[in-house]
Amino acid sequence: MDAYHCNVVVVGGGIAGLWTANRLIRKGCSVVVLESNALGGGQTLASQGILHGGVKYGIDGANRDIALRLRELPPRWLACLEDRGEVALGKVRVLAREQHLWSRDRFLGGFASAMARKAMQGDVEEVPKHNWPEVFQKNPPSGSLYVVKELVLDTLSAVTALAKPLEGNLVAGTIERFVRGESGLESLEVALVDGTPVRLQGDAFVFAAGAGNESACQALGFGPAATQRRPLRMVLARGLGFPLYGHCVTASPKPRATITSNPLSQDWVWYLGGEIAEKGALLDPLETLERTKKEMERMLPAVPWDSVEWACHYVDRAEPRDSSGQLPPEPHVLAHGNTLIAWPAKLVYAPLLADKLLASPILSSLPPAASQPSDFSALPQARIGRLPWDLPLSWSRL
Ligand SMILES: Cc1cc2nc3c(=O)[nH]c(=O)nc-3n(C[C@H](O)[C@H](O)[C@H](O)COP(=O)(O)OP(=O)(O)OC[C@H]3O[C@@H](n4cnc5c(N)ncnc54)[C@H](O)[C@@H]3O)c2cc1C
Repeated sequence: MDAYHCNVVVVGGGIAGLWTANRLIRKGCSVVVLESNALGGGQTLASQGILHGGVKYGIDGANRDIALRLRELPPRWLACLEDRGEVALGKVRVLAREQHLWSRDRFLGGFASAMARKAMQGDVEEVPKHNWPEVFQKNPPSGSLYVVKELVLDTLSAVTALAKPLEGNLVAGTIERFVRGESGLESLEVALVDGTPVRLQGDAFVFAAGAGNESACQALGFGPAATQRRPLRMVLARGLGFPLYGHCVTASPKPRATITSNPLSQDWVWYLGGEIAEKGALLDPLETLERTKKEMERMLPAVPWDSVEWACHYVDRAEPRDSSGQLPPEPHVLAHGNTLIAWPAKLVYAPLLADKLLASPILSSLPPAASQPSDFSALPQARIGRLPWDLPLSWSRL
């Protein structure tokens, strides 16, 4: 079996692995990213691409820690999007710079006062009625309409931009065996996509494999108790011909629906998450679609929902275990000898996760003086994944 060596073997090519690998090469480390499926093809390309600044999590005050943590992140992303930050995202497409926030329930006193407070802090702005988009003009929401100034990114262009500096070092294969030594992990025995077995050796190993971190935790002795999954059945709607970005809130602390939109060649696809997707994970696809249609008719009555084609996409959020079973308040890293297991918990947290990883004793001491990495470019390279609406889904009218 041929052996290949570099400073850091990163397992998983989602936002976490790619962002961290970019930071490591900028620091002068040699890096290989091992991807078992397709770059971004786990949660990253399935995400809604919202760079949360905390408004969604601060609506009722219940997630105050998350809301505060999130406030520091959008400026760091903005610097990267303007090519003056820690990774180069100048070519990434920004789909929207703001989202609407509205309610259809009459008795949301707490929500209204939270919004008024946030408006004073400059996080949200109330939209004067004469400026309401057409979709809100007919059958207007009860109460006010707000805009939240949070960016929505095209995740495919983000994955593509992060993959670019790593070209030649993005290897496609699956782990067959974890080879452990006295000081931690010695190597990974990997079956490349063409079937060739190779050994990947590193001074350090970073597992940023999303749901794949579960098997790393098992193999390294952390056990299943270190991880949790929270499934979503996202809903896709196409045929409306225009985009919408926003959150419809009810008396619940979570938005009932969070809507983002992505361009198709002649149309837009609306991607619906939030509580409807969490509840949908407990239902079958048809039931999810029927309920979502009913909900959307109530939330946005001006939209011609009968003309829409619908589909579902089931995806697990893979996270470090939180005692509440809910979204952990920040990114998380487990360390074991020369091995780190990492979860961002949110796409927007990727910069913070990379800070945590690079500050760890094992990565902060790299690279050692004269270390000559192997050439990985002759090995089969991982391809970039597809967005949910470009996958073979079953579309139907209701
Ligand atoms: C539907 C949905 C919507 C979301 N919306 C948002 C949002 O709007 N804003 C936000 O901030 N966050 C959002 N999130 C959360 C965010 O998407 C995730 O926190 C983030 O993408 C996780 O990134 P990751 O790199 O850790 O994992 P992933 O993107 O899952 O990447 C892990 C990668 O590792 C690979 N892999 C797995 N096992 C192995 C193995 N054994 N060997 C090699 N490779 C392996 C996988 O194929 C995958 O490519 C959303 C999540 C979901 C599911």
